[in-house]
Amino acid sequence: MSTETGLRSLPSVERVLAALRTGGAANDGPVVVEAVREVLREARAAAGQGTPVPPFDELVAKAAAGVEAARRASLRPVINATGVLLQTNLGRAPLSERAMAAVAAVSRGYSNLEFDLETGERGSRHDHVRDLIRRTTGAEDGLVVNNNAAGLLMALQVLAAGREVIISRGQAVEIGGGFRIPDVLRQSGARLVEVGTTNRTYTRDYEAAITPETAAILRVHTSNFRVVGFTAEAPLAELAALAKARGVLLLDDLGSGCLVDTARYGLAHEPTVRESLAGGADLALFSGDKLLGGPQCGVIAGRGATVALLRRHPLARALRVDRMTIAALNATLMSYAEGREAEEIPVWRMLSIPLAGLKRRARKWASAAGSEGAVVLSTSMVGGGSLPGEGIATWCASVAPREGDASALAKALRVGTPHVVARVEEGRVLLDPRTVDPRDDRDVTNALRAAIGGRSESRSH
Ligand SMILES: *Cc1c(COP(=O)(O)O)cnc(C)c1O
Repeated sequence: MSTETGLRSLPSVERVLAALRTGGAANDGPVVVEAVREVLREARAAAGQGTPVPPFDELVAKAAAGVEAARRASLRPVINATGVLLQTNLGRAPLSERAMAAVAAVSRGYSNLEFDLETGERGSRHDHVRDLIRRTTGAEDGLVVNNNAAGLLMALQVLAAGREVIISRGQAVEIGGGFRIPDVLRQSGARLVEVGTTNRTYTRDYEAAITPETAAILRVHTSNFRVVGFTAEAPLAELAALAKARGVLLLDDLGSGCLVDTARYGLAHEPTVRESLAGGADLALFSGDKLLGGPQCGVIAGRGATVALLRRHPLARALRVDRMTIAALNATLMSYAEGREAEEIPVWRMLSIPLAGLKRRARKWASAAGSEGAVVLSTSMVGGGSLPGEGIATWCASVAPREGDASALAKALRVGTPHVVARVEEGRVLLDPRTVDPRDDRDVTNALRAAIGGRSESRSH
């Protein structure tokens, strides 16, 4: 068959579209038309190389598959079986049902986002969050921006641009994703003054560095690593007294923004926002989606006059959050205000699941893996720049593939539907039920069966 003949059997875009329409698979939207054109383009190019044009039905099926692929969202839900509660790569903290409902309630229609219902006049979106930030942290006032990195950049730029900011060498850290405290300082226009050493910094080091050019002392919670051994950090109370006596600000970047005592959950004590402010920090800055368990945002809480300066600055407009974030944050904070965080907020709920329940679920998962499955004692991690190195005992389903390797099995789980993300350790795939909603358990067992079955199928071919 000559190339000429091959090309002549290539159907028109309209004919393939009509077939898709008849199959009920598609309309004539741009996504569909583009998928059809792509399939025909490929067939034409192949025909040019002497490959016969595929039968019409095959072209239609290819186009339908193309449509389906194009329609799948790039951002999709995954089942987090890693046992890492706050995984930045997996979207950090899951939201509470209460927060989800609040988001839906103000997003389907209109809201009083910047509207005063009493007077009928313009209101401020910032007003919606102030009360709950005050109530849950003890702050005089609070402001919410896009994330904690933005909050830090803004605070430094507004309060310290062109002046000096003193920071301990042990705290001039990289948070992750290339976010380095010295870079943020430079970006803000503030001048970085490092004091002390990597492992030991005393209050007197800060004191000696204060000049008339000093705007602030910045404390950064070293949230993703731990320095052990011969170490010293200036106590917050001493820094607060020093800052006050010398008329400079004390800014405390807490990272996680914990509002409860983590020791109650069998973890090391993570500094709380209330402790920071009661200890004398002028501003405490923290994330909404780490241990707080809410939406991505950055909360700046502290002294009324200082927060007011930030709120009036044009950057507050540039970094403002939308109604969905405000709704989710408020609902999350309300759980704390009512003392219901342990039941309502997923992060705390996951941290309090008893071992017996985890073991039961892990055993079910393991049995889906047949003789390759087992139940092992392991460790769930908090992650996400909170409580570095802090783990909590858990039971995992462990799958040790007799053939192939664990990373291939982990990949099969990742790319399957739904996507299941697991951990690979010493040639085994570990799946931790602590970070999986029990409503997803059946999906996990199905995914395991499919991943293992898929492997044995490909082996028999
Ligand atoms: C995580 C973290 C940040 C960045 O917070 P985002 O909300 O991710 O922008 C800043 N500082 C510290 C100490 C952190 O742990």
